[in-house]
Order: sequence, then structure tokens, then C-alpha cells
Amino acid sequence: MISIAIHGGAGVILRENLSPEKETAYIHALTETVRTAYAALENGASALDAVELAVKLMEDSPLFNAGRGSVYNAEGKHEMDAAIMSGSDLSAGAVALVNRVKNPVSLARAVMEKSNHVFLAGAGAEEFAVKAGIELANKDYFHDEFRFQQWQKINGTNAAKLDHDVSLNEKKFGTVGAVALDTSGNLAAATSTGGMTNKLQGRIGDSPLIGAGTYANNQTCAVSCTGHGELFIKHVVAYDVHCLMYYKGMSLAEACNYVVNQKLTEAKAEGGLIAVDRFGNVALYFNTPGMYRAMKTPSEEYTAIFK
Ligand code: ASP
Repeated sequence: MISIAIHGGAGVILRENLSPEKETAYIHALTETVRTAYAALENGASALDAVELAVKLMEDSPLFNAGRGSVYNAEGKHEMDAAIMSGSDLSAGAVALVNRVKNPVSLARAVMEKSNHVFLAGAGAEEFAVKAGIELANKDYFHDEFRFQQWQKINGTNAAKLDHDVSLNEKKFGTVGAVALDTSGNLAAATSTGGMTNKLQGRIGDSPLIGAGTYANNQTCAVSCTGHGELFIKHVVAYDVHCLMYYKGMSLAEACNYVVNQKLTEAKAEGGLIAVDRFGNVALYFNTPGMYRAMKTPSEEYTAIFK
């Protein structure tokens, strides 16, 4: 059994705010990404390779708030975060506050495989990227006019907004993530983001934090989150799904439903998550009007935006 799921962010995504052209572009990007990563799994790629590939494809697309097209912080700069985790041995890599790395998820993987550490941030992470031969890009590469205008609207206020906040007249959304099960029975998860628009310089969200926004464990599941990072950190969301399965014996669907529709909703934590368990079951849960998402298993393929 192989299986893969991806997300491109959750939030107040309303049909009336999304032109038919944009909707088509998102559906196309999500479907192509999930098919490409699934084909890699079919050809024997590891879950780790598949989630890195899926996240890279979305980082390269300006449609999503990760890599190219990341949001602007309060200083008008990009600061990107990413993480990757292997469920077979709990090895993990994460980076935060990078602004010159073309694919932050690949740097996270290099931290996991080529350093003795799990998490590198800022200048040190970029120095490590150079040494590890990770591709860099300049400021212009990451720029996206829409994201810049979004930031201009709230620059000077102390608001930090999810990139899918409707008050920003949002048309583009999207922290990205992927979870997969491979032919060897290994699970993996990866998440990458530009964070929240107008966030303070130095702010790090849930996405690169192992256990909060990203987690994988072959005994249970692989999880990637999207939503209001501060609240997802406090609720240790991804690890919470694992714990409910591991300690309480819940199924993947029960655990995800409880975390998203009960705990997070009660805490007014907006967002969602994607997860896959060791049997290849997929869960796509969110408490917002929409989440960019797609999944593929041997028996099912699905791409959707709205509830
Ligand atoms: N969770 C991300 C963060 O807080 C934002 C998102 O999912 O869109 O950085």
C-alpha cells in the first residue's frame, strides 16, 4: 500500500473571492503535485523522497506561501521555515528564518542527514546551506506582487495575519505540506511556509517545530499542519494526533477529528491538518471554510479546496 496527501494551506477560502481561473490554477497545481509524488512512490521512492518532492514543487509555485511567493514580515522581508521527519527512526530536520534558500524543505533534509542537529535557524542555517551545496536564490526570486500588496495593507499596524485572512482581500493562500506512506511501510511528513503576513522579524511558527506543525512515527501516523501557528504550537497539534492513536488506540480519523473539530475549534485555533497512517488511510481535516488539499492512494484520487 502506498499513499500520499498534500495541503496548500487552510483558511477563510471562499468561492466568491477566488476567480474561476485561480481556482483552476490551484486545482491543477495540487493535482499535478500529488500525481508526481505518487508516481515517485510507485517507482519505489521512499516516503521521505516523496514528501520532499511534493513540498519542493509547491515551494516553486508562487501560488503558495512557501519558497517562491512567501509572505512579507513586518520589515518587508521574507523569513521562511520548514521541517521534514522520517517515521521509521524519528530522524528529523528543520530550518527557520531563512531568506536565501530556494527550497527550505531540502535544507531541512540536509540538516537531518548531514549535520548532528535537528534545527538550524537564521544566518547559521544559511551558512550550512552553502556548505551542504543547497541551491540559493536572491530576494527577487521570492518576491510576489500580490504578497507585497497584502503586506502593504497592514504594514505599520501590529497585526500579523494568516496569509488566508479574508480581510486582506485574499486571493492566494498557502503554507504547504505533504505526508506519505511508502512500499516499505515507512511514513514521512514535511511542511514549509513563509509564515504569517506582517509577523515580527524573528517570529517562528508551528511549521518547522517537530511535534507542533510536523510529525511522523511509523507506529502511528505522519502529520502536517496549517493554521494559526502560535495556537498550533501551544496545542502541540501534530504530536497530539500521534498520542491519541498511540496511547488511546484511536483510529487516524478519530484522532484527527477530535484534535481539529473539538480541541482546536474550542481553542479558536483556525486551521487544519493532513495525515496518513501506517495502513495508508488518509485524513484531511480543517475547521476553516477551506483547505487546499489533494490525496492519492491505489484506489482513490481527490483534489479539493472548499468544505
Ligand atoms: N502555520 C503557519 C504559521 O503560523 C501559517 C499557515 O499555516 O498558513 O507560520
